[in-house]
Amino acid sequence: MDLGALRRNLRRVEAAVGPGTALVPMVKADAYGLGMRAAADAFRRELAPDGPWGFGVAAAAEGEALREAGWTGRVLLSSPMPPDELPRAARAGLTPSVWELETLRRWAELAAGAGRRLPFHLEVDTGMGRAGLPWAEAAEWGVEAARIAAGRLLWEGCFTHFHSADEPDLAATDRQWERFRHALSLLPPPAEGDPPRLVHSSNSAAALRRAGYGCDLARPGIFLYGGAAGADVQPEPVASVRARLSLVRRVPAGTTVGYGATYTAPRDEVWGTAAIGYGDGLRRALATAGGEAIVRGVRVPIVGRISMDVSVLNLSRVPGARAGDVATFIGRDGAEEIRVDEVAERCGTISYEILTGLTPRLPRVYLGGGSP
Ligand SMILES: *Cc1c(COP(=O)(O)O)cnc(C)c1O
Repeated sequence: MDLGALRRNLRRVEAAVGPGTALVPMVKADAYGLGMRAAADAFRRELAPDGPWGFGVAAAAEGEALREAGWTGRVLLSSPMPPDELPRAARAGLTPSVWELETLRRWAELAAGAGRRLPFHLEVDTGMGRAGLPWAEAAEWGVEAARIAAGRLLWEGCFTHFHSADEPDLAATDRQWERFRHALSLLPPPAEGDPPRLVHSSNSAAALRRAGYGCDLARPGIFLYGGAAGADVQPEPVASVRARLSLVRRVPAGTTVGYGATYTAPRDEVWGTAAIGYGDGLRRALATAGGEAIVRGVRVPIVGRISMDVSVLNLSRVPGARAGDVATFIGRDGAEEIRVDEVAERCGTISYEILTGLTPRLPRVYLGGGSP
């Protein structure tokens, strides 16, 4: 994990949205598989002394983990949670996003119990359809939300989430933004003495391609971690996936490899067995989709099925390959590079799923963290 690249990606998002927009780096799902502690620490150092406006997570347990890691700043829970997580959120001082009025009522009860005003952000559904109050009915629920919050809660922000900001055509995203603005215009003003509500909408793609629509906050994720935010918006790669070769040997024509013996050497070949498999997050689907690795600066194909613990490479074109060599499945080696988006595309999925699918067995090695 190249934390220097991670920090530079953060700066690129910051530059794209401009000085009026504060960042809420999304560190959910263990910072997209990279390791939440290391990632949060790198973001804090990069934006020292205060760190980011807050961090975004999906589950209360993730917010608790941030607290254990020493983060005392804001933690925004960006996803709807099962009902029993709200008390945990209150205890850990997390800021929930509120996706229906019933949640808001329960949050207000918890605030009454806690004896202080608890903050929340209200999600407006403009087309994502997972959660949030419907944009077109903001005039009705806005009044009710303000009534429930009065005196007990701090209505700190409003946000929406885009479904297609990484698509070539941004028309649907612009339409969601217009719906969101319309909803905002229908809301009652903040209570007497309260600050203006913070407005946010953008994931990585909208932050980079629409300057975050000029909102107060932006919520980037994937771009920070090295995944493209739309085909034309490429970050610096952050994660590399590498394994050592345990064994290199010459095999005669007719040798088969792996479960199902799906590959047979058509001639004498050199094969290398790498100590990595789907138990580490190397997708089994990759083998049948033309998956490759880089050994000694040469791209080589994966042959046969990927097992839980090992995968086999055809090293016939790699002079001098031997046990102990490093095989790069994602990342750079010499002039060759395999990007996480390339792997995702081969597997018929997205970079998010590849990164979050890297399992704990694969040790995370952090480079370029810098000193505090
Ligand atoms: C995960 C998430 C993000 C980050 O999206 P990316 O596409 O990874 O930049 C932003 N907002 C919400 C609500 C999310 O759940």
